Amino acid sequence: MGKHLVLAGSGHAHLFILSNLGKIRERGHQVTVVSPSDFYYHPGMGPGVLGGSHRLDAIRFATRHAVEKNGGRFISGYIKKADPQQRIVILDTGESISYDAISFCVGSRVPRDILIEEGEAIVPIKPIENLLRARAILLNLLSTSEKPVVASVVGGGPSACEIAGNLFQAAKRHGGQSLLIHLFAGQMLLERFPDRGRGVVRQILAGRGIEIVENSYVTEVKQDAVILDPNQNWPSDLTLIASGLKPVPIFKRSGLTIGPEGALPVSCFLQNPEHPEIFGGGDCIYLEKGGVDKVWIGAMRQGRVLFHNLMAFMEGRPLKPFDPMGNDLLALNLGDKTGLLMGKNRIYHGYIAFLVKEFFDKRFMRTFKAMK
Ligand SMILES: Cc1cc2nc3c(=O)[nH]c(=O)nc-3n(C[C@H](O)[C@H](O)[C@H](O)COP(=O)(O)OP(=O)(O)OC[C@H]3O[C@@H](n4cnc5c(N)ncnc54)[C@H](O)[C@@H]3O)c2cc1C
Repeated sequence: MGKHLVLAGSGHAHLFILSNLGKIRERGHQVTVVSPSDFYYHPGMGPGVLGGSHRLDAIRFATRHAVEKNGGRFISGYIKKADPQQRIVILDTGESISYDAISFCVGSRVPRDILIEEGEAIVPIKPIENLLRARAILLNLLSTSEKPVVASVVGGGPSACEIAGNLFQAAKRHGGQSLLIHLFAGQMLLERFPDRGRGVVRQILAGRGIEIVENSYVTEVKQDAVILDPNQNWPSDLTLIASGLKPVPIFKRSGLTIGPEGALPVSCFLQNPEHPEIFGGGDCIYLEKGGVDKVWIGAMRQGRVLFHNLMAFMEGRPLKPFDPMGNDLLALNLGDKTGLLMGKNRIYHGYIAFLVKEFFDKRFMRTFKAMK
């Protein structure tokens, strides 16, 4: 008898399943996808939207359309929590949906662990659509301001560096007033990077006049300033929040045993050890054996294994393990046609690295082009 599969979120690790929905339906199963947006925006190309090298509609997949075309049900909304005993998920609207098997690929969010005022001039980098809004605000400021514009980036990780680099690109291409960029990196820029990778990024950003502020933490972000501990006030006209992405808090709310930072623990089968009908992939999971970085290529590779294992679980067949293959390649777009590629032992940077990153991103978009 057919089973009911629920896909929570439509991120990288679910794209392979979404593009094979027809096969799941052919085997008599029902599929419901819950996602807040009708589209999925590829975060890897998000900084390029800010910098102006990509259009927002060029970096997205039409998730709702793909689901409905293949006979699935698409529900717009956020999953608030799950009740694993009853095998239901509860949405922000209060609606509950039952499942026989569920897979979570709900990604990460910008945590609100610093005081942040609400308002136009403060923009979290997720959801990715925000980056187009940040670009419009920046260009307007550059066109209308009578004094140099100050843009701040809160965060010291890879996406914060990409955002700072692409703010630079946006201003360089636009002209108008000059732009001062401050990158508030906490204790240290790219803390988890090898020294050489950190040094290269630091040199590229500083070479463009981007001020990197380290050894201090942001405590508060106001409409017109960033406040640092101890008691420093840095004026800011536009502030982007890119401070450490963390898994969404669904699993804690659901009373599940959680992994580091609230992630969903999964075995090598991408299956929760306590509740075998729960699977997951991407930034929201914690792979118990380790070896998986929070990069989109890794999340995408999990998609095939998730597809196999969800079908196998629903049909009583053996599951297959996911092989993390060590650290995945990290590719960054640092703006102004400069890229950084970092593998286990090697680092490349410059224009060729930018082209290689573009190649990976565009190939990825082509892989799922049927969903565009
Ligand atoms: C600005 C930026 C730039 C990046 N650049 C790179 C890069 O160059 N290279 C690289 O390897 N990695 C990069 N990353 C990291 C990379 O994008 C992530 O590792 C990858 O996107 C993880 O994929 P995911 O599917 O787990 O999450 P996501 O891409 O975040 O997708 C999660 C999906 O779930 C949905 N969702 C969220 N909450 C809920 C809910 N409660 N209920 C239902 N649905 C929900 C979201 O709307 C989203 O569609 C970048 C990240 C950012 C933010």
